[in-house]
Amino acid sequence: MTNPFQLLGISDDVVNAVKDLGFENPTPIQEQSIPVLLEGTNDFVGLAQTGTGKTAAFGLPLLELIDFKVNKPQALILCPTRELCLQIANDLKNFSKNIANAHVVAVYGGANIMQQLREIRQGVQIVVATPGRMLDIIGRKAIDFSNVKYVVLDEADEMLNMGFQDDINDILSTTPDDKKTWLFSATMPSEVRRIAKNYMDNPIELTMGTKNTGNVNIDHEYYIVRARDKYAALKRIVDFNPDIFGVVFCKTKLDTQDIAEHLIKDGYNADALHGDLSQQQRDKVMQRFRERNMQLLIATDVAARGIDVNNVTHVINYSLPDEIESYTHRSGRTGRAGKTGVSICIINSKELGKIRQLERIIGKQFTKAELPTGFDVCEKQLFSLVHKVHNVEVNNEQIDQYIPRIMDEFADLTKEEVIKRFASLEFNRFLDYYSKAPDLNAAVGDDRGERGERGERRGRGSEGYTRLFINLGSVDEFTRGDMLSFICNNGKIGGKSVGKIDLKGVFSFFEVEDAVADKVFEGFKSVEFNGRQVRIERSGEGGGERRGGGERRSGGFGGERRSGGGGGYRGGDRRSGGGRREGGNSGGGFRDFSGRSREDKGGSGRREGGSGERRKKW
Ligand code: AMP
Repeated sequence: MTNPFQLLGISDDVVNAVKDLGFENPTPIQEQSIPVLLEGTNDFVGLAQTGTGKTAAFGLPLLELIDFKVNKPQALILCPTRELCLQIANDLKNFSKNIANAHVVAVYGGANIMQQLREIRQGVQIVVATPGRMLDIIGRKAIDFSNVKYVVLDEADEMLNMGFQDDINDILSTTPDDKKTWLFSATMPSEVRRIAKNYMDNPIELTMGTKNTGNVNIDHEYYIVRARDKYAALKRIVDFNPDIFGVVFCKTKLDTQDIAEHLIKDGYNADALHGDLSQQQRDKVMQRFRERNMQLLIATDVAARGIDVNNVTHVINYSLPDEIESYTHRSGRTGRAGKTGVSICIINSKELGKIRQLERIIGKQFTKAELPTGFDVCEKQLFSLVHKVHNVEVNNEQIDQYIPRIMDEFADLTKEEVIKRFASLEFNRFLDYYSKAPDLNAAVGDDRGERGERGERRGRGSEGYTRLFINLGSVDEFTRGDMLSFICNNGKIGGKSVGKIDLKGVFSFFEVEDAVADKVFEGFKSVEFNGRQVRIERSGEGGGERRGGGERRSGGFGGERRSGGGGGYRGGDRRSGGGRREGGNSGGGFRDFSGRSREDKGGSGRREGGSGERRKKW
């Protein structure tokens, strides 16, 4: 039987390679775009979501069109983030593994430029790049694009949103006029339209799915809760989905930190991903998530761009995004590669109008869901445990030696009693925790006790002390003693003025006497650590900061105490993720970090994204 990729015009070498990757049938976007792109004679605009098989949709035709006997760059793929860049390059290497002399290079910031230059010098046909680093390399006259025949602009809306318009202009000006440009975008704001108009000649346009339509595999749900119950609602949703593998989106870096911190304290395996992390820290966090050693990734919009992790079961919008279009990107982290997924919004009743707006934009209805009761959660967890016990892989070799003693221990119990006890072990913990759990569902218009999401002022340390946030922590290999010296040396204060030091993973809190707080701020004004700007803030007082639940620890974050267990992912060693820092993003300036860059401009409490005004607001 002829392979369906062959029928689309893909050659045997490449078909065999994608077969090895488990691609049996082309995805709809591949089916539609491969025959068009294989012609190689047209510009192209593809409106497509992430996770739909876009990379192969343009990658396979490129491999057919490139002359691999010639060792010169013939295709340039520009994309917004380092993660996406690596992923595309990796996919292309896999697709081309049977083609002799095929060379693909990934060019991105935050990594050694020398190595990238070396690879380019050795001869490559396909360059996959983030704009900042690409421009740097062009500036060094280290690459010749005069043979480029195809330029792919992947996730064009994201590149524009991140402010790469000028860089793209500059890069494209170094490529021949008669090249073909293929543009892919999940959304089609007017800026992307303009790009298509400026750079392209009569492009063929394909819309995979309806315009702006979310992936059909994703269900959209919303829960209405009072702002102070948001965190408890998040936990309840997680507890009700014991096998959840999800991304939780927050608006600000501090929110991601706060929520990750509280989830970790409450026994969940979670971590934060945001722009204050170095590239290496981000890589480590992502690696843990990708390997499923972490159950919940708490992320900002910018940091989560380009995340391609399959089998994400849930996207949780802890706060709705500022820009409507970000919702499509957020929800697109689930329901990838034909899998189903759920995108959940935890909102207060005033935000219902935003849900209606989203429904109009993505052309899909949201389901109003009710937060499960404590009893529902207990039942769900109980059967999840029973299921796990039933399916656990038994290591007979190891366990057999203990069986006689275990049997002895249970000799006085019937089978039913033993089962009851095993089940109770976990069930009791949830029962304890949830026995008095309140109903968290808020009625529409029920804004009782709402003080918005702003919460109360934080930053109060112990009496007479100011509590400060610092963007360094144990993953930077700081001990509490190291941190004390670091604070004293840079803040130019004595150790006696420093109060509690709360060392976290990628950040920490410390207290200093009120009287020296300003001095410490002054001292830390331009301190760097391993090439990274050290930032301190009054804890919780970042400009424009929003926090879900605020500092109402008893009613909000700390209101529901989890007794641990249940999730199946727990117990990952948070510290193992991270550690080393790199020596900065050589040469490419802040843009090389792509997502990071724009975040870095704002204090952590500020919203991310430098070019928000250009996007559609609510
Ligand atoms: P992409 O949109 O290119 O990031 O692809 C999303 C995911 O789908 C990746 O993990 C791909 O490996 C996978 N994928 C792409 N095309 C196919 C296909 N035809 N069959 C199965 N999986 C695919």
